[in-house]
Amino acid sequence: MSGSVIYCIDGDDRISEVNEEWPRFAEENGGVADPMAVLGHKLWDFIADEGNRSLYRCMVHEVRQKAAPITVPFRCDSPTVERHMTMTIAPGSLGEVVFVAALQYAFDRQQQPAAGTPEKARTIVECEGCHRLYAGQGWQNCWEVIRQGDIEIDDRPIRVLHTRCPDC
Ligand SMILES: [Zn+2]
Repeated sequence: MSGSVIYCIDGDDRISEVNEEWPRFAEENGGVADPMAVLGHKLWDFIADEGNRSLYRCMVHEVRQKAAPITVPFRCDSPTVERHMTMTIAPGSLGEVVFVAALQYAFDRQQQPAAGTPEKARTIVECEGCHRLYAGQGWQNCWEVIRQGDIEIDDRPIRVLHTRCPDC
């Protein structure tokens, strides 16, 4: 993986564009590598884990509401390589959102894939009203929780409990 992986969704959350780096990225991560198979489909259909889906939904919601980009760290490992990446999620026109995944550094993994350690699955609490998360340090916006390292986005599942925060 050399360049950044870029994909866009329209205002209806449907994948509207992927760049030339995207197919290899998708294939290495066990996904559908044919752009024609994803274009026009909802982004959420391709995020298998409900917790990760929820985190991305929160971030997309924040980006549209704030009309400002956010950048969060995430892990995207293959069976042999541990990849430390950043995801920048930026607003476009008419509700469009652009995702740019960039590799920061990578090394051959010395340990078992994180997916093989399901006991580390984490739980987060999401407010249904404002989409803020509770992860140990009070109710915060999702990217703050991720940046603080309270949640790490990687290949492990995340469990989400839905509730209402005191403000909602
Ligand atoms: Zn709330």
